[in-house]
Formats: sequence, structure tokens, C-alpha cells
Amino acid sequence: MAAVRRFRRAGGTHLFVATQQYGAQPPASVEEYEAQFEQTERLAKAAAGEGVTVYPVIAPYPIDLLDLSDRLGLSEAVRVQESALDLAGRWVREQRAVALGEVGRPHFPVTPEVREAAESVLVHALEVARDVACPAVVHCEDLDAAGFRGLAELAARAGFPVTRLIKHYARSFVAPADRAGVVASFVASRSLVKQSLADPGPWFWETDFLDDPKRPGAVLDIATIPRRAAQVATQGAEAVERLRIPFDQAVRSVYGLAPVGGGTRSA
Ligand SMILES: [Zn+2]
Repeated sequence: MAAVRRFRRAGGTHLFVATQQYGAQPPASVEEYEAQFEQTERLAKAAAGEGVTVYPVIAPYPIDLLDLSDRLGLSEAVRVQESALDLAGRWVREQRAVALGEVGRPHFPVTPEVREAAESVLVHALEVARDVACPAVVHCEDLDAAGFRGLAELAARAGFPVTRLIKHYARSFVAPADRAGVVASFVASRSLVKQSLADPGPWFWETDFLDDPKRPGAVLDIATIPRRAAQVATQGAEAVERLRIPFDQAVRSVYGLAPVGGGTRSA
């Protein structure tokens, strides 16, 4: 909540809060994932009480599959993740979350069996997101043009609209023509902020802020985006117009949400 207050003091009004592992080990059953989502919901409500609009985003974290596979075997691990995705889809339908995320695959090399299992879970995630008509926030390795194409092909396999597929943690600027329609969420470093401002969009900025006491400041501080926006806004009226792309247009076109003011709505 101290971080949320810092965000608000910097001018922040809306937060996407993605679920994460809160205990010592990743969840190993759908019931444990439900408990994790409930913790996220409590955090989102508390944050909304600080005067920001909070959009919860939930899914079983793709990397959990590795730990789960060691404990339960790969096929049972896949079954648990798919059931947890079905649960997350029900939460979206009940408007307790706005998107499925993070879904995806490990961003580091894994065995072909694990890679294949992770991609089958990702396709299942996209099918669930298609059925409940929500965006999917994808965690994966940094992508070049071929990588974006591959991700768009996976979405096509699931019948999922690529215009609602968000590549989270985009660390390299790839031109819009090379993103195959996938929506990039750029890490809000100074250089990516500068490069993305010339891009017609839709795209987002993100911090991937963790608030983990063991990793202070990781990845970027929560107040980074309102601070960057304030800097951009000093460049004049045209620059202010550009800010509508990540803060208004993309939120509407990708999420179907209408961000207004800095209300207290929680989902
Ligand atoms: Zn991630």
C-alpha cells in the first residue's frame, strides 16, 4: 500500500495488478491457485481504497509448470495449470479480473517436452480468453519479428484475436509492421519510451514492478510511468496527445475498458 501511495503521489491513477506467487512454493492444485487469486483480489481492493482504479489480471504463472512438473509429473502439472486457467476464465466472466495473465512459456531454454507442454497450456489459455472475450498477457522470451509471427500463429491456432494479445515485458523496440498485430507492452525505460512515442499503437508501457523485499526496486519502480508521462507532457500539446495511446486508446481497444479519472472501482 505504501507503493500504491507513492504511485498516486507521482500522478498515477490506474494500476494493472497481476497475480503472483505469495508463498514459498508455487501453487500445486487448483485450490491453491484459487487462494492465490483471492489474495490478489484482496490486494486489489486495498489498493483501490487508496484512490486508484485497479484492474486485476490472473492466471497460473507459466514458469510454475517446471516446479509443478518436478512435484507431480508433467502431465498432471499441465492438468493443474489448465484447470487454474478455467478458473481464471470464470473470474473474468464474473468481472473479478479483466484479463488472463501472465500466460505463456519459459523465457529461458527448457527441454523440448516442457516447451511443448508450456505451449499447449498457452493455447488452452488463449482458448479460455477467446471464450470469455478478454485479453491475454503473455510472458515469454524477448521477441523479434519472427518471434512475434510465431506468437500470432499460436493465437490463430486458438482462434484468439491477435489484437487482444499483449506481449508483456517487451525489451526491444520492434517496428509495428514486424509485430504481426500483437500488442507490445514496452518496459518503460527512457529509450523505449522515446521510441514508442513515435509508434501509432496500440501499445503499452509497463514497469513489471514486484515490491518483493528480497528484490527492492525490481524491475522498474511503480512510480516510473507517471514520472515519464509528466516528463513527456512538458514537451507540448502534441506530446500530450501521444500519451493518449497507452493511457486511453490502447486500454479501450485492447481491454474494452474506459479509463476515466482516478476512481475507486476495483475490477
Ligand atoms: Zn513476466
